[in-house]
Amino acid sequence: MALRLFNTMSTRIEEFHPLRDREVRMYACGPTVYDYGHIGNFRTFIAVDLLRRFFRQSGYSVRHVMNITDVDDKIIRNAARDGVTVQQYTAKYEKAFLEDAAMISIEQPTLVRATEHILEMAAFVAKLLEKGFAYRTDDGSYYFRISKFPEYGKLSKKDFSGMQDGARVDVDEYDKDSARDFALWKAPKPGEASWDTPIGPGRPGWHLECSVMSMEELGESFDLHAGGEDLIFPHHENEIAQSESGTGKTFANFWFHARFLLVEGEKMSKSLGNFFTLRDLILRGHKPSSIRYLLTSVPYRNQLNFTFDGLKQAAVSVERLRNFRMRLSAGIFSEGASPEMQSLASQTVERMTAALDDDLNTAQAQAAIFEMVRQANAAADAGTIRKGDVPRLLAALTRFDEIFAVLDDDDGPKMKRAFEWALTEGREQDVSNELREAVQSGQHADAEIEEKLAAMKAARGARDFKTSDTIRAELAAAGILVDITKDGIRWRRK
Ligand code: AMP
Ligand code: ZN
Repeated sequence: MALRLFNTMSTRIEEFHPLRDREVRMYACGPTVYDYGHIGNFRTFIAVDLLRRFFRQSGYSVRHVMNITDVDDKIIRNAARDGVTVQQYTAKYEKAFLEDAAMISIEQPTLVRATEHILEMAAFVAKLLEKGFAYRTDDGSYYFRISKFPEYGKLSKKDFSGMQDGARVDVDEYDKDSARDFALWKAPKPGEASWDTPIGPGRPGWHLECSVMSMEELGESFDLHAGGEDLIFPHHENEIAQSESGTGKTFANFWFHARFLLVEGEKMSKSLGNFFTLRDLILRGHKPSSIRYLLTSVPYRNQLNFTFDGLKQAAVSVERLRNFRMRLSAGIFSEGASPEMQSLASQTVERMTAALDDDLNTAQAQAAIFEMVRQANAAADAGTIRKGDVPRLLAALTRFDEIFAVLDDDDGPKMKRAFEWALTEGREQDVSNELREAVQSGQHADAEIEEKLAAMKAARGARDFKTSDTIRAELAAAGILVDITKDGIRWRRK
């Protein structure tokens, strides 16, 4: 069955079909790099990552573009406060964002940066001006005239029929219920970054950045545009207005929005003290894989209530899956195959695919794999798993992990990097004992690996290749790759 996805534009679940055969072109609004990313941001980025991975698993090639907003009101304000250039200010947080995304196994999309497309944005403003959709104000700013675009409000389902023509707003985020002509281009202000362009000096508005860069990378019409639910209005509504009046074509076919995350039942906010960056959680000793697992465990359109109990539970779930894989790859089973295990594996794959086809129902896909693990563990206890069942069961796990990406145990080195970052940032007091222990036991793990390698060498010396292969498979399941060369045996982490 084909993938069915909720489309914010139609407010219905629709069958997904790309505009071009077997190719998906998708754009996701990326971070504004003025601070470290919080777990709410990463809920949305992980939802988009799952979607991208599932498109690929379903046989599509995927072009996935994401912007880095590296110039906006907040960035300019903070850079001026710190007495550094916008580029100096954003470089640190862009790097941190990419490290964080890799930490929770988000595959990197093609990145586009606002500051690298300023001239194209100015050219787009000139086009809107020529077509009568934009006007210039005395200070040299440009605004979009929404009364010229009668479909304004079609994404957010807001009725703006009584709006006041010519009322303007020049901040990027504004009152959710007001329709105002919004800034496409902002004239320079003292102390602010600005660029010289054919339409005059200034800088682009945030909405314009996404319109211009997405169309540049993916074409005037593409398949899917994604972001968190807060972006529906005004950001995406404005992107549609600009793009569709500029091109006369439908901008994006599908609009995909992830629901906001709550923390312990409340809106996350610094004033409530329940605001967590990804790094805060790692400093408290939580594993990246547990965080990823928890953030994927609730379907993207449902409210995800982040709790520390839930995070502990997620760690147990990941451990269970990893142990099961280890049990299969290191275990010794009798010859043959059992029809029950064969059909369990194939039914699990079908159930996972059907769940994800159903508007990315991640909770059901996870339930399917755990049911398989439960039944297969019981079979292993009873001695009814056969050698021929192992590849099929492992293949089901691999298929699960192509989407969820939690099976490889690379938490140790990732936590070590976070620990080192905390020391260089002078945040040693925030490092929990749990993180210290995890980092130390990661170092012990190296010694354990050496021990296993020694056992492998001894086995090979005695021409006991079966034992050697079993140890090697066990290490591989734990994310340790062993290379056997004529010069000896070496290992590395995956
Ligand atoms: P920003 O860096 O604020 O532009 O946000 C980056 C992405 O994170 C956007 O897609 C936002 O919609 C999303 N986002 C922000 N806060 C949350 C939250 N609490 N839950 C889920 N997504 C969020
Ligand atoms: Zn955007």
